Amino acid sequence: MAVAVHTGTLEGVDAVPILVEVDLLRRLPSVVIVGLPGGAVRESADRVRSAIQQADLEFPRKRVVVNLAPADVRKVGTGFDLPIAVGILAASGQVAHERLDDTVFFGELSLEGQLRGLRGALPAALMARDAGFRRIVLPADCAGEAAVVEGVEVLAADHLADVVAWLDGSRPLPAGRPTAPTVPAEPPLDLSEVRGQHRARRALEIAAAGGHNLLLVGAPGCGKTMLAARMPGILPALGFEESIDITRVWSVAGLLGDGRGLVTQRPFRAPHHTISAAGMVGSATLRPGEVSLAHHGVLFLDELPEFSRHVLELLRQPLEDREITLTRAAGTVRLPASVSLVAAANPCPCGYLGHPTRPCACSPGAVERYRTRLSGPLMDRIDLQVWVQPVDPEQIVHGRRGESSAAVRARVEAARARQRERPGQGGQSNAALRGEAIREVAAPTTEALRVLEDALARFGLSARAWARILKVARTIADLDGADVVDAAHVLEASSFRLPEDREPT
Ligand SMILES: [Zn+2]
Repeated sequence: MAVAVHTGTLEGVDAVPILVEVDLLRRLPSVVIVGLPGGAVRESADRVRSAIQQADLEFPRKRVVVNLAPADVRKVGTGFDLPIAVGILAASGQVAHERLDDTVFFGELSLEGQLRGLRGALPAALMARDAGFRRIVLPADCAGEAAVVEGVEVLAADHLADVVAWLDGSRPLPAGRPTAPTVPAEPPLDLSEVRGQHRARRALEIAAAGGHNLLLVGAPGCGKTMLAARMPGILPALGFEESIDITRVWSVAGLLGDGRGLVTQRPFRAPHHTISAAGMVGSATLRPGEVSLAHHGVLFLDELPEFSRHVLELLRQPLEDREITLTRAAGTVRLPASVSLVAAANPCPCGYLGHPTRPCACSPGAVERYRTRLSGPLMDRIDLQVWVQPVDPEQIVHGRRGESSAAVRARVEAARARQRERPGQGGQSNAALRGEAIREVAAPTTEALRVLEDALARFGLSARAWARILKVARTIADLDGADVVDAAHVLEASSFRLPEDREPT
């Protein structure tokens, strides 16, 4: 008699339900797995056979046919070991069937029958809940990460023999307990540690308040990385649902490790400029890339002009759509990628153009070529540009501590609340506004419009710049608690661009 066992497979950061049907036929002993199994699933037969024997149970001397449904979904990962083993044992009458209907099984088996932690336990538990199952059985190693999901029972097992005993009602399985949060290796960085840098701090605050992307330009050692790394701490406090969203991505990427649970801080990802396309946006084998690992956090691209043009071009779509679409043989998959982009660059190849004390050693031609690279792809996705000056050594020693991240975050949250609640904005951030919506939502005064037209004419800026300045001005007005954008807001917004004259002096 065919037996059906419930499990799931990963698609992007979601698990989708899969039914494992096992049938035993009176033919020569062998195992056949059908229904679009991936490589790891085809190898499952050997692990399952060994694990069943190690659990002192019998692997049937028949033809074992395993059908994975629906057939058009590609089955990836090693989570099929446990449901296939359970299916074989149930079909051969070695375990009871009663609990199969309302349980999801997800886990990899060792040859000794141990259940091993694997990627995707959190998405699997979310799927089990959303599909209306009563419980999910997971390897103890990763049950903790899934235990934060409410509305479904998460059970933890160490060995196939434990699952068999539970199915027979002879021994209970312990509930998975939420594990300690996944914390970043370093303590949260605070803006109070940044002395001076008023303009850069202001740009950071505006960027956080309106969801704008930001470019920091300045000499090596002037504090660009130090500033960028403090961006996650001034973004709005992380909500539980966002926490789950981030943890899903990290779970699928296999980054949780060591039995850690929810990611409870906004991520800060700073990939090196030599990163490959797959490393940045993810690969066809569905490893999330840096742009997804930075979901709900900050993606920091230091030395922006050094990144490959191709990689930067690939970032345009996720920066626009807040998710990345990957195409593979079995169709397209979407991965979340809602990030705040902070980029940094030197002003010239040697780094010291415009420096108050050190001379620039670059030829005019070299500066020109560098500037061309700096104005390459992505620049039309960056609303704010700020020149970061090195801090006066005097200020480093004697300067007052800066304002704390918590104080800045409070203003950022208030500004975000204004955007969320403003009629006509559809809950979007100012940075996400398009076309006519910008003008309507910004509600500039006549005076503000005149100042804007002036700025455009004076600097020879494009229509794109018009929209960018107005969006930033809207955010500045939100930080100000103002309903309309006035001239002062536009003036400040139009100041966040690089000086046109960057020739060596
Ligand atoms: Zn230089």
